[in-house]
Formats: sequence, structure tokens, C-alpha cells
Amino acid sequence: MDISRHVFDETSTDFDLVLVGGGLQNGLIALALRRRQPALRLCLIESGPALAGNHTWCFHASDAGPEDAELVAGLAEHNWQSYRVLFPRLERELATGYSMLSSERLAELVTKAFVGAPGSGIELNAHAVDICADRVVLADGRVLRARAVIDATGPERHELLSGKSGYQKFVGLEVRTHTAHGLTSPILMDARVEQQDGFRFLYVLPLAEDRLLLEDTCFSGSKELDYDLFCERIHAYAEEQGYAIDELVRAEKGVLPLPWAGSVPPHHADQPIRAGYGGGWFHPVTGYSFPIALRIASFIAKSSIDQLRAEGLTSLRSDQERQMKFAYRLNKMLFTWFAPQERYNVLERFYTLDEGIIRRFYALQLTGIDRARVLVGRPPRGMSYKAAFLGRNVS
Ligand SMILES: Cc1cc2nc3c(=O)[nH]c(=O)nc-3n(C[C@H](O)[C@H](O)[C@H](O)COP(=O)(O)OP(=O)(O)OC[C@H]3O[C@@H](n4cnc5c(N)ncnc54)[C@H](O)[C@@H]3O)c2cc1C
Repeated sequence: MDISRHVFDETSTDFDLVLVGGGLQNGLIALALRRRQPALRLCLIESGPALAGNHTWCFHASDAGPEDAELVAGLAEHNWQSYRVLFPRLERELATGYSMLSSERLAELVTKAFVGAPGSGIELNAHAVDICADRVVLADGRVLRARAVIDATGPERHELLSGKSGYQKFVGLEVRTHTAHGLTSPILMDARVEQQDGFRFLYVLPLAEDRLLLEDTCFSGSKELDYDLFCERIHAYAEEQGYAIDELVRAEKGVLPLPWAGSVPPHHADQPIRAGYGGGWFHPVTGYSFPIALRIASFIAKSSIDQLRAEGLTSLRSDQERQMKFAYRLNKMLFTWFAPQERYNVLERFYTLDEGIIRRFYALQLTGIDRARVLVGRPPRGMSYKAAFLGRNVS
């Protein structure tokens, strides 16, 4: 649909729903809505030249509940049956499925979902300068009126990018190897590397027999990312593991907040619905948002527009806040009770837990008993008792 003609008109709405931000959250919402409410007039607004940015989103099979199964089917580009974690004193294979979705694939699926949808459209290179409950003003002056508006403009907007927070910093290089690398399942954390700038690990995804995604990640106290240093470390790791890199296919980087304070802002009917990372809908310990984005998409697809406008995501908020509260506690422990080079001990101990707890942890769906199981027992090595009991932070 050509929305270039749309101008502010007091008497009618242009769309049922305008989705601002063509990233993960609104991509999933658009897919879910096209399945469950195909007659809705949707408009997806993205300020960049393409949908979905430059990401590799990964998720655990257990992140999707039975309700989301339909939405997830067909989303993943790669599926693995298990994954491994490697620490100095622990090597473990977890029998949990793991999947990957690329930006290109999400963009392709979302674009297809809009083909032949009457009254709906995708607008690229369209920057929203004013996002309201019932209209969106674009930088070129156009005004789009809607019955409801969802603002999912991404992590950059999140207030927690400054404040009581650690940061997950990473650089990922997708490479072609000279010969078959021999890996068949992902390594989610290889923490047997030198611990620099906080908890540091390599993340390795085998995408084909001669293609790998190698990501160097730090759980750091600072948000400055030295891109060249991360790339050097990835090359050094590849060499140590015997992966001869032939060609760099693609690179991605990120700095995500891992906060220990904050809340999901409440919804007001006179404001847009804030979803996605920027609305506080993410996992504070992993910095990931896929499982929550999925839940939100399923919820929105089942809701009426009038209900959404009035209540937003209020019914999901108390559970998200409860889960976040516990996650904040874990982040505070990790970043203030352990010196940067000792933080890996916390994750090493975490991975000795029952696999069900690990699955629910990633999905941000821990039960009360799970929470107790995570905390009880001997504290991980390297904990500062002064920091824990006297409140003196370890720097
Ligand atoms: C490199 C990287 C890898 C990640 N990998 C994972 C992962 O594997 N698993 C996981 O669960 N999480 C991952 N995350 C974390 C999180 O899931 C992502 O950040 C996710 O993309 C957040 O989704 P979102 O829709 O909230 O924001 P985004 O996907 O960032 O989408 C926001 C979109 O809004 C657009 N936009 C912003 N402002 C405006 C405006 N004013 N007008 C119009 N458009 C606008 C942006 O251009 C962008 O396309 C990763 C993050 C990064 C940075």
C-alpha cells in the first residue's frame, strides 16, 4: 500500500495498528497478527533501509510455549538438538534444542506476510519523530492515524543504557573456514579463555560444515567496545581451535544493558504501547529478548485493538516484573560481589543446575522453587564477603 498520500484527517484512521520499528519485536507481532487477524490494516514503519537490522537471533526450543509453537514453526534458519558449555572445571552438553534466525530471514518472512494484504503496508526509510497513542508523525511531515500504535524502536532508547547496570558487549564474525571445522552443535559459552574485561567467553555456532559464527563476549562494567580488539581475540581463538579462516562473511556487534534496577513502564491509554527491548521487555541477565518478544507477539495476536489501546501489555507486566526482580538480584551479585576476573565462577556453578531450571532461566520463566535452587548452596568461588555482607562493591 502506498502510504505517501496519507495526511492527518480528524475523521478517519488510516490503519488499525501502526507498528513503529521494523526489528525483532514488531516483526514477530506482524507475523502473529497476519496469521490470527489477517483483516487488520497494519502499517510497519522502519527508519532504516531494510527490516530487521543486522542480527543473528538465537533462542532455545524451550523459549516457545505451546501457544507460540505455531509462530515459531518456520522461523528458524538453523536448528540444533543440543549445545555445549565449556568452563575451566566444567564441560557439559545440554539436550535442549537451539535455533537461529537471521535478520534476512525475518525480513523476508515479514515482507511476504504483507504481500496481498489489503490496507496494510511496510514503509522503509521512514523515521518517526513523534509516536503517540493514535498517530505517528514521520520526519517528512506525514501523519499516520491509527486505532492503536506500538512503539518498538529498540534497545538504544532504553533508559537502562546508563545507570545501575553492567553490559554485555560482543562482536560476532561469520566466517568461512578453509576446511570442514568439524563442529556439529553450538558452543554457547567457551569460558576457558583469558578472563578480560569481566566474564569473557566465546560463542560458536556451526552454520555449515565450512561456516562458523564466532562471537567474543564480555559481561563488563563498562559499555565501551573496542571492536578491533574483539576481532583480534576472535582470530586468536580460531587459530587455537584450528579453524583456518578463509573469508569474513559478515560481522555484527552489540552492547546490551544488564541492569540491576528498573521497571517496565506502566501503560497509559493516552500513550503508545511500548513493546520490545525499549519498553523494558528483555532478560536482564542474558541481555536477550527473543522469548519475551515471542510472548508479546502471541498475546497481541489474540487481543482486540480496543483492548490493546486501553490496556496495552498490562496483563503480562506483573509476571515480567517479578521475573526481572530476581534477575536484577543475580546481576547485582554478578557485577558487585565478584571481581571482573572471578565472574565466570557464577556461570560455571549455574551450569551445574538441573537442565529444566536452565531452560526456564533462559525463557525468563523461573518458578519460586527454581529461584530458591539457583541461590541455595555454597556460594560460587571468588565471592567477596565484604561486598555481599557489608555492601562494599568490588570494582
Ligand atoms: C547484534 C545483536 C545480537 C543479538 N542477539 C540476540 C539473540 O541471539 N537472542 C536474543 O534473544 N536477543 C538478542 N539480542 C538482543 C535483542 O533481542 C535484540 O536487540 C532485538 O533486536 C531487540 O528487538 P526490538 O524489536 O526491541 O529492537 P530492534 O530489533 O533493535 O528493532 C528496533 C527497530 O526500530 C527502528 N527504529 C528506531 N527508531 C525508530 C524511529 N524513530 N522510527 C522508525 N524506526 C525506528 C530501528 O532501526 C530498528 O530496526 C541481540 C542484540 C544485538 C544488538
